[in-house]
Amino acid sequence: TATNWDTFSTALGDIEVIRDRNQLEKLSKDYYHFSPVLQKQLADKVADIVVRPQSEAEVLQVAQVCVERQLPVTLRGAGTGNYGQCIPLAGGVVLDLSRLNQVKWVKPGMACVEAGAKLAAIDKVTRASGWELRMYPSTYRTATIGGFIGGGSGGIGSITYGQLRDRGNLNAVRVVTLEDQPRVLTLRGDDVQKVLHAYGTNGIITELEIPLGPAYAWAEVIVVFDDFMHAARFGQALGEADGLVKKLISIQAWPIPSYFQSLKPYLPTGKHAALLMVAEPSLELFEALVKAWGAEITYRKLAAEAGKGTAIAEFTWNHTTLHARSVDPGFTYLQTLFPYDPELTLVEHMLNQFGDEALMHLEFFRVEGKVIAAALQLVRYTSEARLNEIIRYHEAKGAFIANPHTYILEDGGRKTVDLDQVNFKAEVDPYGLLNPGKMRGWLERFN
Ligand code: FAD
Repeated sequence: TATNWDTFSTALGDIEVIRDRNQLEKLSKDYYHFSPVLQKQLADKVADIVVRPQSEAEVLQVAQVCVERQLPVTLRGAGTGNYGQCIPLAGGVVLDLSRLNQVKWVKPGMACVEAGAKLAAIDKVTRASGWELRMYPSTYRTATIGGFIGGGSGGIGSITYGQLRDRGNLNAVRVVTLEDQPRVLTLRGDDVQKVLHAYGTNGIITELEIPLGPAYAWAEVIVVFDDFMHAARFGQALGEADGLVKKLISIQAWPIPSYFQSLKPYLPTGKHAALLMVAEPSLELFEALVKAWGAEITYRKLAAEAGKGTAIAEFTWNHTTLHARSVDPGFTYLQTLFPYDPELTLVEHMLNQFGDEALMHLEFFRVEGKVIAAALQLVRYTSEARLNEIIRYHEAKGAFIANPHTYILEDGGRKTVDLDQVNFKAEVDPYGLLNPGKMRGWLERFN
């Protein structure tokens, strides 16, 4: 039977609902259009209604009404995900958590925040007491912490602290269930893994305890190189220089720097560029490293200045794709993890193998103490078949691809069903109402 959205809204009392068609379209989408494959599959998906609670108590109330009516519920933070994670495949309710945005407390090394708080806003608050977010995506100005935990993986800061999923980067979460009688559960310690990067398929995160790092004044620096592999190996060396405090090491092959309009004066034609964030106290000895590598610094902005204008971070990670696509919408991208190898042999192989078809940029991060190169290559899209061929070639050579061209949780990142996550869903979402169609492990239970 068709849902009566009038009586549904009435049952929610004072909780904000949105039914304007244009708004519904907007609040049903993310940055899935970076992928021509997802573009085709998801363009017509839209919610019937958006609900925007302001407190955990209101979230509980929405959960109750949705369970009673057996409605699909898809969670949304800021909608900056790349794989259609927050797109409601079955319509129904989009639950927008952006109004749950309080920072509840900050203690040395830890903050307690509501799920809809924006990352940049959290960072601003914690900095006032000398602490900062350990890592954030390049979308930190708009993205929420709940969405980062639900759909992200890491980013600026991962060169020091690893990825979100690494033990120690998320301390605790409060989760609202979709049982007949919705409850609030607290997951602590390793139990947080049950909902981490689960696309909001197994619980509504309302509050999180996030470990922090000591706050630094971050200088922005650009270093340019004649040879890409020299630049890449410099990136590896900086990553391994444990005494130098840094937050970002992004190595961009020419012609990618030509897509960064506002940085143009610092990016000479034909040169490969390292876009970096280095702690101010480390700058002097960092410059000694640059000198040893025979490279040239073209840009150096101290933290006070860097706070104004577009941050250098907003040209790196997947923002590179954003800038490239604004110049040439024919670009899509890959997400590649290269195996640990300080010589970067496989990076060099792929560079030569694909040339202009897959432009290389490396984002360095730390995995269990080792400095690893990830790449978000810009691919000139010709067909889905060719894209898959490029992916398979990488995998055959030993590179891991976190496929950004699928909205299925397991097919993107981990490739295997996480039984703890599926079992947790069975417990807290027995009717399978949360973000239906995204978790393969759940779909397979019934086939
Ligand atoms: P949404 O897109 O709103 O949601 C993401 C997922 O989390 C969805 O499945 C949603 O259902 C779920 N979710 C949202 N809120 C909750 C909640 N309260 N409880 C449970 N589940 C929830 N990602 C990175 O990891 N690193 C990067 O460097 C990075 N760079 C990017 C650059 C660009 C240009 C773009 C477009 C995206 C980038 N992303 C990156 C992806 C994305 O921006 C981040 O992961 C971001 O943190 C997502 O936050 P959001 O609030 O927009 O989440």
